[in-house]
Amino acid sequence: MRDLSKHPELFSLNTATVRERWDLQQIIDGCLRHGVKAIAPWREQVQAMGLDAAAKALRASGLTLNGYCRGGLFTAPDAAGRAKAIDDNKRAVDEAAAIGAQCVVLVVGGVAASGAKGLTQAHRQIEDAIGAVLAYARTTGVKLAIEPLHPMYANDRACVNTLKHANDLCETLGPGVGVAVDVYHTWWDLALEREIARAGKAGTILGFHVCDWLAPTTDLLTDRGMMGDGVIDIPKIRGWVEAAGYAGFVEAEIFSSKNWWKRDPDEVIGICLERFRTVC
Ligand code: ZN
Repeated sequence: MRDLSKHPELFSLNTATVRERWDLQQIIDGCLRHGVKAIAPWREQVQAMGLDAAAKALRASGLTLNGYCRGGLFTAPDAAGRAKAIDDNKRAVDEAAAIGAQCVVLVVGGVAASGAKGLTQAHRQIEDAIGAVLAYARTTGVKLAIEPLHPMYANDRACVNTLKHANDLCETLGPGVGVAVDVYHTWWDLALEREIARAGKAGTILGFHVCDWLAPTTDLLTDRGMMGDGVIDIPKIRGWVEAAGYAGFVEAEIFSSKNWWKRDPDEVIGICLERFRTVC
């Protein structure tokens, strides 16, 4: 297992962590100030700056872009809606290629938007859509990373909720698609160690995201904790991921409307780096 206290270059910042107070240029400048070597930016931030300007600034920064957030949201009740989602995801792939991001992270879409009750239709729509985007992504070199989300989001954000399901999809869909393992979404899963090993064997682990599960959690979306402040055994999961061959970044991704989003982003990045060294 890697000793993170000796490898600050393995830290990546998901830019949502500081998005409330800083725009993309401020994030780039802030990360360089703190010696951060990698980020995973969001489409909204890139689009706010303008794709060409963002691509130029990001490439000039020397930062590695280990992910681009986010694609997905594939479920829709009608063919036109699903086609629109696929087109939008192809644009996300183009943007990722333009800024030099390694993969587009997919939050695949929930049951509610699928037009049907239960999981069957939504799952079919998601598999078909990822297949369509993947055929396009393969022509660009940008990979797709399916991020299984905690089951509490099956209704509205993503009804791929286990790493097993994401691995099954990767097996079915073939090269160019992998998984992003986020401790927040997967820590409860008894099959996690086994499925991480399976993904490792397939060479499909494209990302590893960290934050913490607070007790109590007061908001389903924006009450994520700083690493070390909750109940997740982050080093244990990181150990599994690295034993499976993952050698990429450890990406801090904290949605926190009541706490971290309110603080000075310089302070937030500083604490992220300290927790990265000490509790991840
Ligand atoms: Zn994540």
